[in-house]
Amino acid sequence: MNYYSLNHKAPKTTFENAVVKGLAPDKGLYFPESITPLPKDFFDNIDNLSHTEIAFQAIKQFVSPEIPEAVLKTIVEETLSFDFPVIKLNDNISTLELFHGPTMAFKDVGARFMARCLGYFNKDNTNEVTVLVATSGDTGGAVANGFLGVKGVNVVILYPSGKVSDIQEKQLTTLGQNIKALEVNGTFDDCQAMVKTAFLDEELTSKMQLTSANSINVARWLPQLFYFIFAYKQLHNKYNDIVFSVPSGNFGNICAGMMAQQLGLPIKHFVASNNANNVVTRYLISKLYEPKPSVQTISNAMDVGAPSNFIRIQEIYKNKFDTLKENLSSYSYSDEDTKYAMLEIYNNFNYVADPHGAVGYLGCKAYLKENPNAHCVFLETAHPTKFLDVVEDVIKEKQPLPEQIKSVMDNEKVSIKISTYQELKNFLLN
Ligand SMILES: *Cc1c(COP(=O)(O)O)cnc(C)c1O
Repeated sequence: MNYYSLNHKAPKTTFENAVVKGLAPDKGLYFPESITPLPKDFFDNIDNLSHTEIAFQAIKQFVSPEIPEAVLKTIVEETLSFDFPVIKLNDNISTLELFHGPTMAFKDVGARFMARCLGYFNKDNTNEVTVLVATSGDTGGAVANGFLGVKGVNVVILYPSGKVSDIQEKQLTTLGQNIKALEVNGTFDDCQAMVKTAFLDEELTSKMQLTSANSINVARWLPQLFYFIFAYKQLHNKYNDIVFSVPSGNFGNICAGMMAQQLGLPIKHFVASNNANNVVTRYLISKLYEPKPSVQTISNAMDVGAPSNFIRIQEIYKNKFDTLKENLSSYSYSDEDTKYAMLEIYNNFNYVADPHGAVGYLGCKAYLKENPNAHCVFLETAHPTKFLDVVEDVIKEKQPLPEQIKSVMDNEKVSIKISTYQELKNFLLN
């Protein structure tokens, strides 16, 4: 599959090159040149397909011929070595739990898939890359874990000192091997600015191949389309009109769901559920796309003022506002709404949701008000104990720590403190 830049000022390129470079030379996001729907019997026969078979069929066209079929089978099998259960709350609402991976965040799948692709591209030791990421919490842990031990890939994670949770910090800083954590004296925006400067620094990029591991990278973004097919498999015998409410920040996850829809998955509608960072909610009302600096909320993985994947969504719907609006609704909620929803979910369904999932639940409720016959699935994007302070404060009950989390809490933190870009650069060059 070839990929083109959504800025349309760079040559088309291969899957391999799109993954290794991250962004096109004109700074545009890469997008696949064509999308061929899956055959009808794939969906008719879905009950008989394993997760590995589903994922293999669904992503094959996007990664071939550079990743041979036998290699791809191994990559998806290793990537998907955990569960993706749908839990029914009532006849109209279910939740798709995406937190059963090693770091208990949905980003595990994308990180594991991308790491294995890069590992394959470096099979002859000729394609060494450095993955540079800034994280406000969840991405860093998933990337650290997903890339651990992958030959020819060095990972450097920047995180704001004192501004990630204890659990998140342990997940970033305790793995060792090819994973290095830089603790930045500053905010997440400072971390992100340093990463951006590094990508534009020709003295640096002439000496090393840098790439990103957030959802702008096609190998992080595309495998997320599996989730929607896995949920469909569990629900299609029970419900007709399946709608997904996706707690959205950079809009990578929801955009991957729209790719699944383009592959022929019968999804009736999408709901982009936002916290106070609501540029898309406002756009669907006013037709004006006005990014703003992000504001801090309790669902902080969605604190994004200018969602990077929205341009891909525009491309999927051919830049037609009306087509987009037929397929997408968006609602925005305050922290107070979110806490109230967490309590409601706990009291009514005896289910503990994290703040991101709770925003998704509210999106379902709003959509169902207008469309009472649909079945709405909200994505639970993180395990509630990853946001322990808020969760325990709201539901007034202690939460047991899952094994994956317990096992990292005893490990020793190793990080390097930096304050300036020059310190980052010196670190990378040594
Ligand atoms: C990253 C993240 C999101 C937002 O996903 P996008 O693909 O950026 O829209 C939502 N919830 C959690 C817990 C996350 O880590």
